[in-house]
Amino acid sequence: MKRRDFIRTSLLATAGLTLISCEDQEIVIDDTPGRLTKTNNPKDIIIIGAGISGLVAGFELKRAGHNVTILEARDRIGGRIFTVREPFSNGIFAEAGAARIPDNHDITLGYIDYFNLSLNPFYPDGGNYTQLLDGEKSYIEPDVFLEDRPWPTSVTHKEYSKIESGNDQLPEALYETLMDNVHLSEPAISIEQMNDGVRVETDNGATYLGDKIICTLPLPVLNKVSFSPSLSTQKQEAINGGYTYNTATRVMFTSPTRFWENEGQNGFGKTDWPEEIWHPSWDQDSTAGLLLTYLRRDKAIEADALNDAVRNIQILNRWENVFPGVQNNITHAYTHSWAKEEWSGAGWPAPTEEEEEAYGSSLGLVEGHIHFAGEHTTEYHGWMQGALLSGIRAANEINDGAMT
Ligand SMILES: Cc1cc2nc3c(=O)[nH]c(=O)nc-3n(C[C@H](O)[C@H](O)[C@H](O)COP(=O)(O)OP(=O)(O)OC[C@H]3O[C@@H](n4cnc5c(N)ncnc54)[C@H](O)[C@@H]3O)c2cc1C
Repeated sequence: MKRRDFIRTSLLATAGLTLISCEDQEIVIDDTPGRLTKTNNPKDIIIIGAGISGLVAGFELKRAGHNVTILEARDRIGGRIFTVREPFSNGIFAEAGAARIPDNHDITLGYIDYFNLSLNPFYPDGGNYTQLLDGEKSYIEPDVFLEDRPWPTSVTHKEYSKIESGNDQLPEALYETLMDNVHLSEPAISIEQMNDGVRVETDNGATYLGDKIICTLPLPVLNKVSFSPSLSTQKQEAINGGYTYNTATRVMFTSPTRFWENEGQNGFGKTDWPEEIWHPSWDQDSTAGLLLTYLRRDKAIEADALNDAVRNIQILNRWENVFPGVQNNITHAYTHSWAKEEWSGAGWPAPTEEEEEAYGSSLGLVEGHIHFAGEHTTEYHGWMQGALLSGIRAANEINDGAMT
């Protein structure tokens, strides 16, 4: 069974339906992994944050018959799913945030399938992968690299894919159904619970009233919102630094040609800096190329402390040993630091065992009329799958509550 058929079968089974075999015919999926029962008691629901968790919650609640308002601080939707296009020419693009989709993330793949988005492998099966260890450069053949894993508990490289036209197409597909419901550049600053509902005030002086709230904000920026009454002690402690987050920074460089291909290199590799090097444009229709370094934790903090010029020179100096001639071939550089992003404040949660034990189970707990979503409320830290699951869970809580 092909992956697509497998997902279709799983979705239909979840929805209690059977897959009717119709050879050579395109089967149209009309259900999502998060489908809710239609309500006969619609509620007014305010969702804070138009990242993928807020969007999926809004999408499913609206389909179930509820009235949805989504308040988003940024002037764009998608949150930490951000496909960078604009600074680059020739139609090339790269992911600043969510990039790889493992083949066991059924919910993510289920929505991709539902919206009929095409997938491509994340890693190419041609050209050599390059590694630089102790200043020594060597090549890894693609067959060998694809069977390896980016980290020990991960699926293999060959089991990762990406949305062909950019991962932002998934939040965009959800947004298309919610255009009238989403208010951009509308940061929430206070949430007040009353006996019969909730009141949200925004930085623009607007007030929104509703029956329920879904708050999807990542913990590092949740302290920009005041809650009345206060949130539980566990949530407050987690918000105030008790639940560690990782930093992550990507620095992207464009080149008018893919000069590295002359040496048989495919533009992907790793160094013991440590860093992962990607060539996101490998399957994009252009002769130009884009290379990026993916820096995490200490290396991201180090890179964030430098100004753009110094940071770029440092990376390109190192890369001269990886892609000879790189310094003379770069036309543009672009850095995206998630720690410096006003509405994210960090990459994703990386709690210690003690932090997880102390706070993990309380982050997604309902408090009065406020439901909590976001990838940090699930075990899938740093994955779209977690964000989607949390949005569906919060939507279900509200929908089930309305039924009873
Ligand atoms: C560097 C990086 C690499 C990643 N790699 C992958 C990957 O390869 N594969 C994968 O599946 N996932 C990956 N992820 C994780 C994935 O991007 C996230 O799990 C997911 O996008 C989180 O969605 P969310 O809705 O929980 O949060 P967010 O996307 O953070 O959404 C929260 C939203 O709330 C908004 N907001 C903040 N404050 C306010 C306010 N006061 N009022 C209103 N709105 C507000 C924000 O602007 C944002 O839009 C990566 C993330 C990062 C940062």
